[in-house]
Amino acid sequence: MNAEIELENSYCARNYHPLPVVLTRGSGVWVWDVDGRKYLDMMSAYSAVSHGHCHPRLVNVVQQQVAKLNIVSRAFHSDTLGPFLKRACELTGQDRGLPMNTGAEAVETAIKAARKWAYQVKGVAAGQAEIIACSGNFHGRTIAVVAMSDEPQYQSGFGPFPPGFKLVDYGDIGALERAITRNTAAFLVEPIQGEGGIIIPPDGYLRACQDLCRRHNVLLIADEIQTGLGRTGKFLACEHEGVVPDGLVLGKALGGGIMPVSLFLARREVMDVFTPGDHGSTFGGNPLSAAIGLESLNVLVEEKLAEASAEQGKYLLERLQALRSPLIADVRGRGLFIGIEIDPAQARARRVCEELMRRGLLSKETHETVVRLAPPLVIDRSQIDWAVAQIDEVLKMLERIRMAS
Ligand SMILES: *Cc1c(COP(=O)(O)O)cnc(C)c1O
Repeated sequence: MNAEIELENSYCARNYHPLPVVLTRGSGVWVWDVDGRKYLDMMSAYSAVSHGHCHPRLVNVVQQQVAKLNIVSRAFHSDTLGPFLKRACELTGQDRGLPMNTGAEAVETAIKAARKWAYQVKGVAAGQAEIIACSGNFHGRTIAVVAMSDEPQYQSGFGPFPPGFKLVDYGDIGALERAITRNTAAFLVEPIQGEGGIIIPPDGYLRACQDLCRRHNVLLIADEIQTGLGRTGKFLACEHEGVVPDGLVLGKALGGGIMPVSLFLARREVMDVFTPGDHGSTFGGNPLSAAIGLESLNVLVEEKLAEASAEQGKYLLERLQALRSPLIADVRGRGLFIGIEIDPAQARARRVCEELMRRGLLSKETHETVVRLAPPLVIDRSQIDWAVAQIDEVLKMLERIRMAS
């Protein structure tokens, strides 16, 4: 085993099960291990690296800003936060943004905003506000956020949890309607469930959620931390159905593959429930993060990465759907956000990922049965062709092993 892996295993908490590869360098869709082997990154850090590794424009902005001013806290203003939030609002149709760092913090911020809005604006009785989320959701790992999860492992051993959350079946508009009460503050939803296994709800679902929420004076909050910023072939996945949510959570790719940068964005009426001292973060919205966030948005727009995701994603999906393997139970996706469901009776998704790694393609299983393919949005057609050839070879090899056993 690599000395690096042994060292990490000795000192690092065991809260992940990484593939046995030690990376040291990245550029665009490629990463290199410590032995100089090159890999195509089809995971892009759970979509945090949509721009590709070390995008030259982003590296340049970091280098300029890092030598100038980095951290001031929100005790003072900076000259980069305003331009970043203005651009984020323009691109998302929202009025104001509250900057945080990680995705989970921005989700917590959304929950706080929704609860306070329910008490101050909607008139819900003190302590009664409810948030509705979906079965199979993933919104992060803090205590309040895992309180919304129905994945036993995310909660096991970590209780007690704060109350005030309800779950409804994902994709079931009737279930949402039945769950709404006069105490409902918000419905929090991922337009496509990423960690849940690239689960795409029925057409028209989000639109119907928006109509239902409007009718009942409930906030629709979209967690687009993973689906946003071009991943599904539109700037926001909500745009596939012409939906503009009342609150929007962004993270991952917002940091340009360099820094944790997250935002909760909302209509003025929602965001204005926050007053000085209510909520905050020492690092949220710092000058370096804001400069990176602004450039990451500008690169997405100017390099037309959402359009590229739509076009290349369609091509990759068609190529994968044309593979005839008994190991594949399903292939689904939108844009460059694709899951290959492996029939668990035939092979484990983890094994598929390990074999792909040996051939120089990096991906990761989710929910034990799904191989996730979410490469940087700068991937080109020849790289996709190469990836599909590797996947085809690995599936054929595992099929042969299965037949022989
Ligand atoms: C990754 C993710 C989060 C959590 O983001 P962190 O930066 O890991 O805290 C929340 N929601 C969704 C949909 C995600 O994919």
